[in-house]
Amino acid sequence: MIQDTIAAVATPFAPGGIGIIRASGPGVEDIARRLFRPTKGRPCPFNSHHLYLGDIICPDTGAILDEALVTIMRSPRSYTGEDTLEIQAHGGLLVMQQILRTVLKAGARLAEPGEFTRRAFLNNRIDLSQAEAIAEIISARSEGGLEIALARLKGDMADLSRGLRDEVIELLGILETSIDFEESELDREDQSNPKEKIQSLEVRISELLATYQRGRMLAAGISVVIIGRPNVGKSSLLNALLGKKRAIVTAIPGTTRDLIEDTLAIGDLTMLVVDTAGIREGADLIEREGIDLLRDRLSTADLAVVVVDGSDEPQQEDLEIIAGNLHLPLVVFLNKSDLPQKLQSERFTTLGPGIVCIQGSAKLNHGITELKEAIYGLVNQEKREARSSVMVTNLRHKLALEKAAVFLQQARIALEEGISPELILLDLREAADALGEITGKILCEDVLDRIFSTFCVGK
Ligand code: GDP
Repeated sequence: MIQDTIAAVATPFAPGGIGIIRASGPGVEDIARRLFRPTKGRPCPFNSHHLYLGDIICPDTGAILDEALVTIMRSPRSYTGEDTLEIQAHGGLLVMQQILRTVLKAGARLAEPGEFTRRAFLNNRIDLSQAEAIAEIISARSEGGLEIALARLKGDMADLSRGLRDEVIELLGILETSIDFEESELDREDQSNPKEKIQSLEVRISELLATYQRGRMLAAGISVVIIGRPNVGKSSLLNALLGKKRAIVTAIPGTTRDLIEDTLAIGDLTMLVVDTAGIREGADLIEREGIDLLRDRLSTADLAVVVVDGSDEPQQEDLEIIAGNLHLPLVVFLNKSDLPQKLQSERFTTLGPGIVCIQGSAKLNHGITELKEAIYGLVNQEKREARSSVMVTNLRHKLALEKAAVFLQQARIALEEGISPELILLDLREAADALGEITGKILCEDVLDRIFSTFCVGK
């Protein structure tokens, strides 16, 4: 049972038209009565979900802190499931601080990050996958990511994983009642052939897992690294992709001695584009640090754009850069198409499977749309393969599903090999527990701490 009352500023810590202070717990009505003086003069009834206009006052001095709208949402019809107080005041930093301090003095304590949502989870208002979805809605940077997070908040992942878990538990029940079953006997029960049931569960879980790559790309965005020799036009290309001047472009090699990063939306994907201009092997200390950073980025990149100067003689270094990154989907951008060309795209497309070559001019903005389409096409291949309508974007869910799949497979093999039924039951129980982790039905405190610590205070 939660006994204390928590409070925090729920709106960003910046001046704004309105700022909201939120409190939750058994003491909110008492707090509201102490610091709210309704404009109408009569004692405020604080009917649930009604807005009241009045002044927020300091109970000790009677000084007015601000004019505000106040509402109490009574348990269980609130975000946290507890009595909740919201004070909508003017969104000034000082005003917010003063009101919060008064709320705290009147009996609340400062909320931890994510504590309101944690309470919503503990009070069964939402499950863990929905709590995570709330954090993802707040941090979403692409339309695709937002759409998935909203579907998760509506319970798509919760329903699906609960359904799968129920099926495993049902199967457990059947097998438990026939603990000394013979495989042949079980096979005869066509309604609940355990092997087929497990197989069907395995298929659905693997279909779900197949959405992870794209789901993660939608949710977290993808990382595109622009690489190439000095002076081929990497910074110019970044500027052209972003449609704004972000990188410094000069004719002297090695001007940008650091990585320049920015985000770019292509279709429903957000891309983090990293420009590596100016980083050369064997250069000075700062550049060598840059090279380490570049290696780091390349190791986590989803795709690389290799810029090549099409107006220049063919260079061995270009080929080496491509050869060194063949593990990534690659787009070669044959730049400076406005100048007489000395290179053909065939020279690059034959270097590895699936290499796409686009000719264009970063300076004149030619070929940029084609480049974006090529990037989108390459990273989007999984879309056609994904067969589940529910997308997995969260690593925790992915790991839980993988764990469930392993135990289901073990159970199926054990069934096929006629191994002791007790072991099969054990595997199925593990599979059910793994699926239960997704909604938080099965959980440990550490996981909760980790999830909610990523939230902002006031959420
Ligand atoms: P980086 O070192 O690879 O980042 O190359 P920059 O973007 O700094 O460009 C190097 C030089 O090439 C600059 O003088 C640019 O103006 C020039 N440049 C970049 N793209 C083009 C292009 O499409 N056509 C022409 N003619 N020059 C370009």
